[in-house]
Amino acid sequence: MPDMRSLLRVRSESPDVPIDLDAIDPKSTPGLPGRKVTGKDPKLWARAEVERIGAELATQQEMLFAQAAVDDGQGRSVLLVLQAMDCGGKDGAVKRVAGAMNPLGMHIKAFGPPTAQERRGGFLWRIRKALPPGGYVGVFNRSHYEDVLIVRVNGLAPESVWRPRYEKINDFEREVVDGGTTVVKVMLHISREEQRERLMQRLIDPAKHWKFNPSDLDSRARWDDYHAAYAEALARCDSDAAPWYVLPADRKWYRDWALSHLLRQTFADLKLSYPQPDYDLAAQRRRLEADG
Ligand code: ATP
Ligand code: MG
Repeated sequence: MPDMRSLLRVRSESPDVPIDLDAIDPKSTPGLPGRKVTGKDPKLWARAEVERIGAELATQQEMLFAQAAVDDGQGRSVLLVLQAMDCGGKDGAVKRVAGAMNPLGMHIKAFGPPTAQERRGGFLWRIRKALPPGGYVGVFNRSHYEDVLIVRVNGLAPESVWRPRYEKINDFEREVVDGGTTVVKVMLHISREEQRERLMQRLIDPAKHWKFNPSDLDSRARWDDYHAAYAEALARCDSDAAPWYVLPADRKWYRDWALSHLLRQTFADLKLSYPQPDYDLAAQRRRLEADG
């Protein structure tokens, strides 16, 4: 099994050195075994693997949920934070990877521009409220990182406001991890050409018109500024406790395969199992056998 965590983890000499996103090819497929190994077309093979790993993820998620259920919700939780440029494939990743698990145990939240009320509580206020309770797998489709990305690029707040947020985010995430939540942060990394392709699809396909927002083209025009903001956030807010991964995402089948593996490895670390019953199993079985 490929160690996707080491392959995709961002590497920076220090938090002050931004991650070089240009050095990561969005079309690349790190860790994917070649046709010689699998004997199959890589895309078809990866899709089948996503199905197979999805079943494993579902079992792991059920164990997480079961453990918390017997511990009165005191169990651990997992939080996947997804960030990407527009059309980066967050929705698709949620559908295909998180979708393999039981919706009852999922806590999925998408973050758009904050309302006036949300803004009043500070940028982490709505994020705290959306954290997954014990036993749940949470997914953030965009997150508190928007407050050092779009806010920075579009000048929605002055630097004196957004710059101290890196440290605030690190403190916050440390607190979340200490509270029993495993945090996995993933940037789905697409190329400028792929984004153009996907935006064009949204304008061509009537079933996708609703996904297009004219402001997407304004964001696209500031691609380099966004990348600079990502590069700094990734470097400043990567830690062993709450690591950042950059996942090449031009190929959707690779994206889903790599993300499935990342989650699988994350669950494996938790060493989950189904809880032992706190009642006398044999006695209960005898009771039921006698009733019939
Ligand atoms: P897609 O990638 O499929 O277009 P999306 O995540 O862009 O999906 P939208 O509803 O189109 O979903 O956009 C959400 C918008 O909310 C994004 O433009 C994002 O930058 C913005 N947003 C999220 N958080 C904040 C924030 N804290 N401050 C300002 N804008 C934010
Ligand atoms: Mg959008």
